[in-house]
Amino acid sequence: MASLVPELSSEMVRNIARQDARPAGSRQSRVISGRMYAMRRPSSLIAPRSRPLLLAAAVVGAVALGLLGPGAAIGKTARGKRITTTTKRRNGATTVKARPTTTTTIPAVPVTVPILGGAASVRRQGLGAVDLTRLPLGTNKYGSSAAPGSVYRCPAPSGPPTPNDGVVLPWINGSTFDLVHKVAVAGSVPWSGGAFAATPQGAMRVLAGNDLPPHTTGVFPVAVSDPAYKYRPNPSAIAANGFSVSVPLNPSVAAAPSCLGGEIGVTLNGIELFNAFDADGRDAVAEETQDHCEGHPNVFGYHYHSISNCLADPGSGHSQLLGYAFDGFGIFGHRGEGGKVLTNADLDECHGHTHAITWDGKTTVLYHYHATWEFPYVIGCFRGTSTVRSPAFGTGGEGPRR
Ligand SMILES: [Zn+2]
Ligand SMILES: [Zn+2]
Repeated sequence: MASLVPELSSEMVRNIARQDARPAGSRQSRVISGRMYAMRRPSSLIAPRSRPLLLAAAVVGAVALGLLGPGAAIGKTARGKRITTTTKRRNGATTVKARPTTTTTIPAVPVTVPILGGAASVRRQGLGAVDLTRLPLGTNKYGSSAAPGSVYRCPAPSGPPTPNDGVVLPWINGSTFDLVHKVAVAGSVPWSGGAFAATPQGAMRVLAGNDLPPHTTGVFPVAVSDPAYKYRPNPSAIAANGFSVSVPLNPSVAAAPSCLGGEIGVTLNGIELFNAFDADGRDAVAEETQDHCEGHPNVFGYHYHSISNCLADPGSGHSQLLGYAFDGFGIFGHRGEGGKVLTNADLDECHGHTHAITWDGKTTVLYHYHATWEFPYVIGCFRGTSTVRSPAFGTGGEGPRR
């Protein structure tokens, strides 16, 4: 027996004991160059070819030392082979057999996908087949009537847009942009004192708050040292901006859609929601410098141009209510009925559809808007009969930044 057991350093013994104590599954985190090692040792100390032998010998040694005890011990060789070591005791003698069998390592499927250069992530559940590295650029996609994939905008822009200010954004490739690699404004600034409530009052729902984020934000004004600074530095600071907007409690669909001002609604975390454009007619999600929650301030306050990744939308079925539009209809996340991740093709020209939803605790067949990954992200026009007009927040939309 003793001849089977090589010399074990005290470090190797400790490593084996640790390995045995680790929960199942933790071994998956130690894939080294596509191969798995059951033992954690300085790899430079041992030549790769000798690892399997040493490993098997170490397991055998551990059994002999009583660390693993009789029964089965499992290890893996450098070539992904699984070693099952069994022990038998008969008449006080212990026989140890090591039998390698081939196994396949199945990598864990990540449940989130990084965006904004790793500053944030989104749930795979809400992505479907969408390729976040090639989203359609919405710059200039607006008009004076409702159309799918476009914003019905009012008042009509007074002059031609100025989409090209000479700034080259490396995450924009022709007619698409790459949200995965877009730069995010750096920082993790906490805020306190945020307040928001959506309160039924007669036939109306009062949306009142102060626009202070309930989550951390980037540093604004954008710091000179921030990699985002060289693209479109935002000189505005985040400040409270009190608002109180009344929308219909039970909105109804109008005979014809109506146009959007700069402000289009409020999210349930109390943040102002703007349409998909910046002040110059550019796709705000693609071209503006935003933080890890896809928000940023103008001179009045913090706002989103899309449904922020910082708004939780758990589950796998139809998305949850995440905000209210200024016509009173609800704004839901990316998933439609049965959990299908929606695109513009699934929605009408205003970016919504009608089916049974949970509305104020009851199941009701009602029109509602959905978020999509593609432009115009939240709303293309108002579908409801009653529409609060921008500037309900006092901002009028993107406006100048200073
Ligand atoms: Zn729906
Ligand atoms: Zn903005």
